[in-house]
Amino acid sequence: MNYRFPVFYSSLFAGHDTGLGHPENAGRLSAVVDHLKNCQNSGLQADEWATQIAWIEPSARSVLPHVCRVHDPGYVNQLDAIAQRGGGHIDSDTVVSPQSYDLALLAVAAWLDGVDWVWQQKSPAFALVRPPGHHAERDRGMGFCLLSNAAIAAHYALTCPGISRVAILDWDVHHGNGTQALVEANANLAYCSFHQSPAYPGTGAASETGQHQNVLNLPLPPGAQLADYQQRWADQARPFLADFGADLMIVSAGYDATQADPLASLSLQPDDYRWFTHACWELMGPRILFGLEGGYDFSALACSVAATIRCAIENCAVSS
Ligand SMILES: [Zn+2]
Repeated sequence: MNYRFPVFYSSLFAGHDTGLGHPENAGRLSAVVDHLKNCQNSGLQADEWATQIAWIEPSARSVLPHVCRVHDPGYVNQLDAIAQRGGGHIDSDTVVSPQSYDLALLAVAAWLDGVDWVWQQKSPAFALVRPPGHHAERDRGMGFCLLSNAAIAAHYALTCPGISRVAILDWDVHHGNGTQALVEANANLAYCSFHQSPAYPGTGAASETGQHQNVLNLPLPPGAQLADYQQRWADQARPFLADFGADLMIVSAGYDATQADPLASLSLQPDDYRWFTHACWELMGPRILFGLEGGYDFSALACSVAATIRCAIENCAVSS
């Protein structure tokens, strides 16, 4: 069987240098890559699912037109200028290093490659990138995020023949204020977010429902665990997404809702992402692109990404 699960990834992403002690650092991706490769290469002990992973470099495609459809071109130029003059801070915790502009564009390329793969192959994919994106707004980066990867990918997907509606599910522990703002005006895009409240960035109240009733925010109190997610999925998220009827789902896959995460206070376990992935699968089948957002405990992050990919691969095996 030739089935492959693509992970769009480049070791170059390590060049986005956020500085000493920053939680969003290059160690995050190397922890994930090391863990997945360990699962792949353990000889006779290798995990069957992990042997299906194909590591694919993001393409050298031109992404600027797609970026500038979503972001203010003046802001995009500003990012380039900050990087070219040696880097700087956009806000107290959002860093642009000399390579950050080019790598933010490479991250977008990985997400767009993922959209193409999912739609053309009718098979899921994972964009394993940094910097993350869901806090970035039209004219400013914030919260470790420079470009709104998920929103750019969703708007791009609408240009692909045969795709008329795209849903974004954001399971990062923080509300994706940028993504929501950049998709809610388009009735063919939907945004559904599970997030801790109160927490950064302070947006994402249940009363924010979008310009076309195309936004569903599901704030969770500190300490919430899998059963709380399952109830909100069954009662609200699943009906909302089923009614919307997307052709493609994009998951803003942050993994900072795990109990071990140092930046938030929810209580998911890494294996809980198997349930979440399976729930998406029951709704969408294989038409799902996962893209990395947050997740700051290296071990929990690596195990959670593996749980997501394992579930997607095992579901593909069952359905083929
Ligand atoms: Zn987050």
